[in-house]
Amino acid sequence: MEIRELISEGKGKRIYATDDPNLAVLYFKDEATAFHGLKRGRILGKGEINNAICRHLFTLLKDAGIENHFISTLDARQSLVKRVQIIPIALKVRNIVAGSLAQRIRFPEGTRLSSPVVEVVLKDGEIDESLINNSHVVAMGLATVDEMNYMKGIARKVNDILSDYLKEINIELIDFKLEFGRYGDQILLADEISPDSCRFWDSQTMEPLDIDRFRYNLGNVEQAYQDVLHRMMGPEEN
Ligand code: ADP
Ligand code: MG
Repeated sequence: MEIRELISEGKGKRIYATDDPNLAVLYFKDEATAFHGLKRGRILGKGEINNAICRHLFTLLKDAGIENHFISTLDARQSLVKRVQIIPIALKVRNIVAGSLAQRIRFPEGTRLSSPVVEVVLKDGEIDESLINNSHVVAMGLATVDEMNYMKGIARKVNDILSDYLKEINIELIDFKLEFGRYGDQILLADEISPDSCRFWDSQTMEPLDIDRFRYNLGNVEQAYQDVLHRMMGPEEN
């Protein structure tokens, strides 16, 4: 397998083509952005940590029956994945109110929702994240109703699997964002599952262990990312 041209560069990763049209290489960057690119910085070691966290969580999901793009890690920062045609929406699953939802439904941050909420946002380059619904997605020709229901079903299963797993390592899964892509006639879970794309709070202190530490200048940003990985790997492997 040979790494070829850069396909695209986003906020947290670069994606490269390979000599196999069905495979791509994800390169995880240390760069961090917030507030739709208004705030920029670096989180030292983030690329390597997110690469390792993605390997861990995508493998755990695969073992639980959730097919996804992950194949293998290539080195500390890079993973080999199935090259999908990304469907330009993200599904956000929320268990506890945080971020933009607090303003939207006027519930205080930290309120546990009586059932998980699944939101759909449009991925539109720099103009990020307008909230849309199934009818927008269908009208824009991005996916069918059946495909939306399929993806939302997967998102709910991922929520159950990850919430249960993370509880064991004293992390509360507050919310997270998933992307899916077309791979032949399949729709596969793709992109990343990391502290860049999830809100992870310590179960005891309810302190964020994720990108919010960078967003809101909470300090100990690098340590929080390392802490999440260490909890996942267990003490003996680090
Ligand atoms: P963004 O700034 O849009 O969040 P990222 O830096 O997270 O971008 O990721 C870079 C790009 O890689 C994104 O457009 C993402 O949708 C895409 N991507 C992720 N996984 C895959 C995959 N398996 N195949 C093709 N593209 C992918
Ligand atoms: Mg992204």
